[in-house]
Amino acid sequence: MIKQILGDIKRQWEPLRHRLTTNLILDRTIKIQQIPAPTFDEIQRARYIENQFRALRLKAVKRDPIHNVVGWTLPPDQSDKPILLISAHTDTVFPRDTPLTVRQEQNRVYGPGIGDNSLGVGTLMLLAEIYAGLKRQWDIPVGFVANAREEGLGNLDGIRVVIERYPRERIAGVIVLEGMALGRIYHAGIAVRRLKITTYAEGGHSWLHFGQPNAIHTLVQLAADISRLVMPEEPRTTYNIGMLEGGHSINSIATEASLYLDMRSTTSDGLAALEKDVRYIVATKETDAEIKVVGDRPEGYLSIEHPLVVIAEQAYQSIGLQPSLERGSTDANYMLAKNIPSVVVGVTYGGNAHRLDEYIEIDPLRDGVWSIILMVESMMRNLGQQQD
Ligand SMILES: [Zn+2]
Repeated sequence: MIKQILGDIKRQWEPLRHRLTTNLILDRTIKIQQIPAPTFDEIQRARYIENQFRALRLKAVKRDPIHNVVGWTLPPDQSDKPILLISAHTDTVFPRDTPLTVRQEQNRVYGPGIGDNSLGVGTLMLLAEIYAGLKRQWDIPVGFVANAREEGLGNLDGIRVVIERYPRERIAGVIVLEGMALGRIYHAGIAVRRLKITTYAEGGHSWLHFGQPNAIHTLVQLAADISRLVMPEEPRTTYNIGMLEGGHSINSIATEASLYLDMRSTTSDGLAALEKDVRYIVATKETDAEIKVVGDRPEGYLSIEHPLVVIAEQAYQSIGLQPSLERGSTDANYMLAKNIPSVVVGVTYGGNAHRLDEYIEIDPLRDGVWSIILMVESMMRNLGQQQD
């Protein structure tokens, strides 16, 4: 059934495929990449996207207070038909003042955030452009979602706020675009929890009050104990102390210090066991300490027999790729944990994500975007048929 749908779409859309040039894809991507969008500060990029969506005459265009932007082929609230969402996160890990220069070298384009996730957003814009231009009687409302707060401490709040607007049963699928994930299908989310551990002390002068408790001394002892924890291979469980902060001056006894701990596991039991160990370490130190949960991404799983996974696999296969099924920590975690069908798919290959020399490969771009069009179309038609 899905194979047949794909064949139909390929024939019908062949003319469009020729207009889908590498330059067009890069143009849309770099326009996004040039607008700074650190997590919690996505407003400028969101405004640009909102204007584009309005210019395309998408329906029910909305930018919400945390700067998610959504636009539709058909207003979603005029029927109770199932809806299909395509999303890409707009935020980046780079501070606002990061130079966003791009450069091309042979088969690569380099630039901060180019692959994660300007390419995802650029592809979303291109899809919106294509769909807005189709003279078609829409049956299934398709929503284009440019969401904020995926990275770091954003804690998936962007996608959560968007998804919470619609009854869960109505969401037939969410296709999440990640620029550099070509050939991969994330259909399962690993469990992630993030803790901020803060130690406190009275403070004092480094010489006069030597020997009194020092928040930094306590914190680094805690950090040392945590870093000695040995993790099981099954379920795969990991931790990382990614940031340390505290103190006021070199000759003061520190009154406050914090560390940020990221913990991950393929199962929530594995994660809970690790958290228990960490909390035990903190509890047994005789100190004034506080643990705050600053991030929580639940685990979740979509069956590999679900049409969304099957369609994604076949779309990749039709451009000659052997897809791989993956689990990860992405926006899809939120949907998967709520039993809303969702997959993450990619547009090209790339590397050095979250670094200034991040890059994407140019050659696979056209096929990558094409495979995503195939996925969206197949999904729409598959839903249309389920309705009849
Ligand atoms: Zn990303």
